[in-house]
Amino acid sequence: MTLLQGKGVSKGVTSGPICFFQRPGNDIAKVSVSDIEAEKARIREAQEKSMAQLEALADKAREETGEDTAILFETHAMFVEDDDYVDTILSTLEDEECCAEYAVKVAGEQFSAMMAAMEDEYLRARAADIKDVTRCILNNLMGIADGGIDSDVPVILAADDLAPSETLQLDKSKILGFITQGGSGNSHTAILARTMGIPAICALGDSLTKEYEGRVAYIDGAAGTVTLDPDEQALAAYEEKARKQAELRALMDEMRGKEDVTLDGREMMVYCNIGSPDDVPAVLQNDGQGIGLFRSEFLYLAASDYPSEDEQFKAYKKVAEAMGGKRVVIRTLDIGADKQVAYFNLQKEENPAMGVRAIRICLNRPEVFRTQLRALYRASAYGKVAIMFPMITSVWEVRECKKACQAVMTELDAEGIPYNRDTEIGIMVETPASVFIADALAKEVDFFSVGTNDLTQYTLACDRQASDLGRFFDPHHPAELRALKIAADAAHAAGIWIGICGELGADLSLLETFLAIGIDELSVSPSSVLPLRAKIRQTTAGTCTAELLDC
Ligand code: PEP
Ligand code: MG
Repeated sequence: MTLLQGKGVSKGVTSGPICFFQRPGNDIAKVSVSDIEAEKARIREAQEKSMAQLEALADKAREETGEDTAILFETHAMFVEDDDYVDTILSTLEDEECCAEYAVKVAGEQFSAMMAAMEDEYLRARAADIKDVTRCILNNLMGIADGGIDSDVPVILAADDLAPSETLQLDKSKILGFITQGGSGNSHTAILARTMGIPAICALGDSLTKEYEGRVAYIDGAAGTVTLDPDEQALAAYEEKARKQAELRALMDEMRGKEDVTLDGREMMVYCNIGSPDDVPAVLQNDGQGIGLFRSEFLYLAASDYPSEDEQFKAYKKVAEAMGGKRVVIRTLDIGADKQVAYFNLQKEENPAMGVRAIRICLNRPEVFRTQLRALYRASAYGKVAIMFPMITSVWEVRECKKACQAVMTELDAEGIPYNRDTEIGIMVETPASVFIADALAKEVDFFSVGTNDLTQYTLACDRQASDLGRFFDPHHPAELRALKIAADAAHAAGIWIGICGELGADLSLLETFLAIGIDELSVSPSSVLPLRAKIRQTTAGTCTAELLDC
């Protein structure tokens, strides 16, 4: 028996074959070849496969997302055959007498660097397209499966860690659980796993090696263990946990349709966090009462160019309509830091978590912001949309955001486009600055939502991505709880509601503390809704006092 110990970041047990996530690395070696013609034939074959895949993606996009994305994939398919691009690949192959992979990689780099240096902004933005097309051809040359999972059966997906853009492209129907070498409870793999309601274990380090590919593993997301070849006792323990899990699921089913109210009648709004319209069925299945955080950046991360107003409008409208009048809080673009989007050409920063990210990018790029706000307001005519701004530190930022909203409403009025004039506007409280000036901020907006993932990072000076901060990264730290109390008191003094949309909101051990603080809403992953409801319904809010905040 082999036992690997990591950090459990999404509960549950499951078993299945381990499959390593595949991506073309940057370390494609230059292998000298004598048969250049054979390499040319390999490139031709990879180009043909790539074009067929991109055309199929265009057809799928036309049905699911709309014309803009479809055209993008069609353009990519055409680019595979672009004369200049293909000439660059072939001349590299001939000049360097190297393998096809190396020629495609080098040509892709050269060609995209050349485009990135163009004066014309449109041509500059094409650099990202060339990278995408190059990756597609490389995948085909190297036999790397589309979507990164080379398996016909569901698997336990293993990786060093996954970037947010990679998690978006995964074929989720094939994933039973996640195991990663790095990562933390706040990493995007962990957040995705919790949204999907499947187990995940991170920080396994070097103990997770490629030799385990294809071996059947038994994983326990609460204990953080990965077991291979379990002995009789370990197998029996696993089976017992799987049985209890099934029982608990059945018990949780009984919570569907019930109210989120404590024994003494205090209501809590239990909403869901989602990352894309694809997550809405999970919200409905788990009976979430609304969406407290829709991370809109999925649209930007999944694309290779700025998503258009129409494309965004369709995605937001789809979610608003699917929620049938329940509140849908859509957060404006929050990229930068760990969420990098190539076509934004963001400056490389020494300390990106404290750099030009989230609302700072939107305020610096009014056209990008305006496009998103127009899409959001247009979608507000189709449901109960609320708009939320991330990473706020100052009152002037909120005022500038509101001014941008006002300008968009004036435009829509002039164009006769319907929208909801009373769309709620809120901010994320996720920086210590926003806590200290919460009283002033509360006067500007309709609601607060506390982003405890970032608030913990900035309050405790602990990188949320780091897997080795151990006991220093303590989301239960009294400073965090006091910050929540300051923000809640300020919100209520101004007559607005306050929620938590960071991962801490689903921490059942803190429910009484949240009630004592006066939190009105908890937005959690869909799979956390029913357990949270069960706990709320067993709790007496009146006995939860501020003493719980004592250090
Ligand atoms: C947070 O910071 O708590 C949050 C909800 O936002 P994100 O995790 O996307 O930064
Ligand atoms: Mg955040």
